[in-house]
Amino acid sequence: MKASFRQQCDVAVIGAGAAGIAAARELTAAKLDVQLIEARSRPGGRALTEIHGGHALDLGCGWLHSADDNPYVGIAGDLGFTADKTPPPWQEMMSEDAFPSQDQAAFRSAQAKFYSRLEAAAQEPTDRPASDCLDQGAPWSALIDAVSTYVNGCELARLSAKDFDNYHDSEINYRITQGYGALIARLADDVPAIYDCPVSRIDHSGAMISVETARGALQARAIVIAVPTNILAREIIRFTPAIPSKLEAAAMLPLGIANKLYLAVEGPEELPDNGRIFGQIDRNDTGAYHLRPFGKPLIEGYFGGDCARGLEKDGLAAFSAFAIEEICGMLGNLWRNRLRPLAASAWANDPFALGSYSHAMPGHWDKRAVLASPVNNRLFFCRRGDIAALFFDSTRRT
Ligand SMILES: Cc1cc2nc3c(=O)[nH]c(=O)nc-3n(C[C@H](O)[C@H](O)[C@H](O)COP(=O)(O)OP(=O)(O)OC[C@H]3O[C@@H](n4cnc5c(N)ncnc54)[C@H](O)[C@@H]3O)c2cc1C
Repeated sequence: MKASFRQQCDVAVIGAGAAGIAAARELTAAKLDVQLIEARSRPGGRALTEIHGGHALDLGCGWLHSADDNPYVGIAGDLGFTADKTPPPWQEMMSEDAFPSQDQAAFRSAQAKFYSRLEAAAQEPTDRPASDCLDQGAPWSALIDAVSTYVNGCELARLSAKDFDNYHDSEINYRITQGYGALIARLADDVPAIYDCPVSRIDHSGAMISVETARGALQARAIVIAVPTNILAREIIRFTPAIPSKLEAAAMLPLGIANKLYLAVEGPEELPDNGRIFGQIDRNDTGAYHLRPFGKPLIEGYFGGDCARGLEKDGLAAFSAFAIEEICGMLGNLWRNRLRPLAASAWANDPFALGSYSHAMPGHWDKRAVLASPVNNRLFFCRRGDIAALFFDSTRRT
């Protein structure tokens, strides 16, 4: 809920994305006096649902990964949102025309070998780039690298093998029919939030912590910092005294780039429901296209890494032209005049995100723990979107 700016509170939570909202809700439930301070004029951060052409489109997160163990599934149900349990298209075979089944089998086998080499590499004492586990020059290595750009936001050469291996996924994935972003934004309704209020400095030298914002200064007993790592690494929020270990950790956990593009489809019945194609099968700068997500007359394109960064820079017209070219290359030219751009994300240049999702650089898998550790039990750093269990006993009033 929108609230008036107050100059004092128990805890100031900075950043009204999924992490900050979850923290603010937990702290409010623990009867603490909380203010959620957000730079944008809306809650949700990288969870963003927009309505285009009458469809709820997720321009940020879309999938509830590990849905069998994901607290948002229950939260969504309690709030009247609908979880769509259709298996994700990447778990299904692609159409024969776009990717011959023999090639698909060879790709999946090469990918399985890559993952087992990665698992073995992650057990070694020294961390390595995940690209070391690729069979360099082998036929499917470029496509395995392309998949990393959608999953990690970066090419395998920039990815820590240990960090990648640490990621747990039960392979059960749901989506929210009304939009994942809409769900996260709804959760902010229950906490006092101040919008259009970027924070520029946190002074933790005194008994109370002083937070400088665009609406003036506030004092708090404790702070939760739930802004993207790139915001910390570029010192858009400065700390007094400085905390070099946090800056270094944030810089080694950068946000890579993943962007989405939505195309409206005329005559969609000819496309498979919840189908999927790659734009190319022999290179890493290509999109992955989800055909008719939720059965809607849409194509949802996923782009990652350098490819996504370049397309974002070129603007929507060039971005959609690239996608339409790739889709027609796979499905045939008859689609050229039946696809129309609806919306695209542009996270690399979003001033309050500066990227899409974080990964650890090779050799820096341990930095997540460094970033997450509290400072003097009153500066708390959130590092992921799913921290519904966050609980700060040290800030609780007795
Ligand atoms: C294209 C894309 C696809 C994705 N797909 C998935 C998916 O399918 N499943 C999944 O689980 N995750 C996905 N993610 C990742 C997921 O969206 C993020 O992990 C999650 O939303 C991050 O939440 P957060 O609260 O940590 O950060 P954010 O959502 O970035 O929230 C941080 C908040 O801090 C604010 N802020 C920044 N600077 C300041 C400042 N100076 N002062 C005050 N406030 C500030 C920002 O405006 C923002 O609201 C995707 C992300 C993208 C971009």
